[in-house]
Amino acid sequence: MSKVKKKVTPGRERMEKIVSLCKRRGFIFQSSEIYGGLNSCYDYGPMGVLLKNNVKNSWWKSNVQERDDVVGLDSSILMHPQVWVASGHVESFTDPMVDCKECKLRFRADHVEGDKCPECGGELTDARLFNLMFKTFMGAVEDTSSVVHLRPETAQGIFVNFKNVQTVSRKKLPFGIAQIGKAFRNEITPGKFTFRTREFEMMELEYFTYPEQSEECHQKWLETRMKWYADLGIKKEKLRLRRHEDDELAHYALSCYDVEYEFPWGWSELEGIANRTDYDLKAHEKDSGKDMKFFDEERKEHIAPFVIEPSAGVDRSALAFLVDAYDEDETPTAKGGIDVRTVLRFSNKLAPIKAAVLPLSKKEPLPEIAEKIYKDLRKDFYTDYDIKGSIGKRYRRQDEVGTPFCITVDFDTIEDNAVTVRFRDTLVQERIPIEELKGKLKNLLEL
Ligand code: ATP
Repeated sequence: MSKVKKKVTPGRERMEKIVSLCKRRGFIFQSSEIYGGLNSCYDYGPMGVLLKNNVKNSWWKSNVQERDDVVGLDSSILMHPQVWVASGHVESFTDPMVDCKECKLRFRADHVEGDKCPECGGELTDARLFNLMFKTFMGAVEDTSSVVHLRPETAQGIFVNFKNVQTVSRKKLPFGIAQIGKAFRNEITPGKFTFRTREFEMMELEYFTYPEQSEECHQKWLETRMKWYADLGIKKEKLRLRRHEDDELAHYALSCYDVEYEFPWGWSELEGIANRTDYDLKAHEKDSGKDMKFFDEERKEHIAPFVIEPSAGVDRSALAFLVDAYDEDETPTAKGGIDVRTVLRFSNKLAPIKAAVLPLSKKEPLPEIAEKIYKDLRKDFYTDYDIKGSIGKRYRRQDEVGTPFCITVDFDTIEDNAVTVRFRDTLVQERIPIEELKGKLKNLLEL
């Protein structure tokens, strides 16, 4: 162990290695790759879908299942066009856009420093506002009256259902409604792999509270959300909270903080946590003519609640967890060379595959014993079975997808009914009786 050194790869090279690992090991593919790909759209492969599900399940568990003041919702992507008028999205969900007169590339004006094209130095057009909502048509006729939008956030589905959910759940202030789902934004300049895409998933929570308690409540959510990332193993020094400057604040927000992660290209937003005041409920009340207030039995008062909104991206946090987990060990070889071990050090909760069962030889009864263990373990958690290639290669494959435990069935197993468990991070190997194996692993996995 003492011979293992950390290999430090500079930012751009590190990111290229991660993107290539994502493809090689089935985390993330470019969408429609066989047709040349579709800009900024990605598909999650066998490992990616497990990682993403683990991110979503961890979020749901800590923000809904383990709380008695939050309930869930799954609202539709297409909504009444008036929703987006009332919410202000038709009017102001825009980014300033500039085009280069020379190379024709398009940029977000607030991402360009100076007044020249960042690619070719050419002259830029004046900034124009560009609405980020995708439009489509509902029904057979394609005219202006049939235009609907793909939702650019899941939050409005929560606001318009506020009364429905409050009535059926009989929740009193303060309480929250949570939702995970797809959102679409016609970003002017997508990029940086899955960090900014035009189709993505959000994990959003609208927490309704008394106006006078909203700032205190906001502070609590900042702590709760930072703890969530830390509990899932993100390095503390790579995570920070940044308060929005006044000129950065959305028009409806009283205050807002971003949870930021230090990606190889710099600090970038993972989640926004805003105090949205009573802006949304009041806007929908005004436009729909329906009462959107909460009747407080104790105070005998109709209250327009303030809203604290922790709004996180599934894809962005999955990418941050991937980048954070990526590691390379260097070990000197017997022949005087250097051996690099690529390993994803996911927390046990996020690891796509929790354990892999590897028979040392293809000779019976090893595969038979191994398969029996595998079929038993997979009833409780994701387990892989791999018989192809040398044991060293099989360990490497599991390291590259972040499997915390490799279980080797060898010839001694026939005699002692025990297996060797290899721990991904420490490389320690421990002999464990088969009958104790599942219990021990479940303990380690905190299942
Ligand atoms: P940005 O300034 O990076 O465009 P934003 O402030 O507009 O983001 P919010 O509207 O606060 O983002 O969205 C909440 C979260 O949704 C973001 O923190 C991010 O995790 C995720 N998100 C937003 N836009 C995208 C996108 N185009 N691709 C992937 N995730 C996104």
